[in-house]
Amino acid sequence: MESKKITNIEVKKKNRNEVFRYICKNGMVSNPDISYALKLSLPTATQITKELIERGLVEEKGEMGSTGGRRAKALAVHEKVGKAAGLDITKNHISMVLTGLEGKIIKYERIFLPYAAGDGYYLDVCQKLECFLESCGCGKEGVLGIGISFPGIMDLEEKVVADSHVLGVRDLPFSAVSRFFPFPCHFINDANAGAYAEGRQTESMGRFFYLSLSNTVGGAVYDNGRLEQGHNFRCGEVGHMTVVPDGEACYCGKKGCLDAYCSAKCLTEGRVEDFFGRLAQGEPEEASLWDQYTTYLAIAVNNIHMVLDCDVVLGGYVGSSMGAFIQDIQDKVSERNTFAEDASFIRACRHKTGAAALGASLQVIEMFMEQV
Ligand SMILES: [Zn+2]
Repeated sequence: MESKKITNIEVKKKNRNEVFRYICKNGMVSNPDISYALKLSLPTATQITKELIERGLVEEKGEMGSTGGRRAKALAVHEKVGKAAGLDITKNHISMVLTGLEGKIIKYERIFLPYAAGDGYYLDVCQKLECFLESCGCGKEGVLGIGISFPGIMDLEEKVVADSHVLGVRDLPFSAVSRFFPFPCHFINDANAGAYAEGRQTESMGRFFYLSLSNTVGGAVYDNGRLEQGHNFRCGEVGHMTVVPDGEACYCGKKGCLDAYCSAKCLTEGRVEDFFGRLAQGEPEEASLWDQYTTYLAIAVNNIHMVLDCDVVLGGYVGSSMGAFIQDIQDKVSERNTFAEDASFIRACRHKTGAAALGASLQVIEMFMEQV
């Protein structure tokens, strides 16, 4: 008997959760819409929305357009239910987003602000974030929380930024950062955040590897809404897999790591978009760099695919800007592939701007959704 009771509560929670997600996603809906879409009886759907209204999560907004017969009540997420902020910290910039519960970016901004250890930096970031939220017309009370993306190993058990080579940070407690912000803070690794943005908003993608090709190379395994973390929160750190024995020096101190061959810096010290512009014009220097770059990238992508047998999404600055040049990588991977499939499992990321900040904010939304 005991276990049946628990199951009933779980079923109710699951239904309530699905109804709330449905309303968030679809904007203005009616009880009959919910009943039909989620295969719930009309009385059950009505009971759940009544409960959500009582909890201040949903509100009535007049009536739906007439489709014959009695007009149904229009239901929407209550205006007072907040939005989520996302912050991506990189070596030289911060990116900020405000995201609605339906998962769409309301506003995005990127600011030049070099990372510096110490309170001054975080005070500055917090002030810039507050200005940003104000410019969105969103007060502090309208923010559910902030997702903060860091370029480093995030130990989610010990709650520390275990290691960020790029920022020169080791064992930085999350609390040493969150104390500057007047919101609940959630921390996430940058490649994980990029993968999360990609996965959450592409319903067809169950499982894939996200290869982040920015000034450093990282990666993440996304699996049906979850991110694989590994035993040491280093799952997907392919930037430090060896592609050339005793090859080029990597910033990590080892030799021959993928990062030394496939970071965005291997293509240009400037803007990656400009590099691809010159490549498109047939500049020989760019063509030679791209040929070398894609040779190593193809080794990595083929190896990743052999281990995981899933789609590989190319993200980061390079993945976002390569456009039709992805064909070059697909061709080289096809040549390597033992099983002679086509290389359509390789594709460029869909979220080109602010993917990490968006992914960080989406995690905040997901945490909020789970407790409804
Ligand atoms: Zn390395």
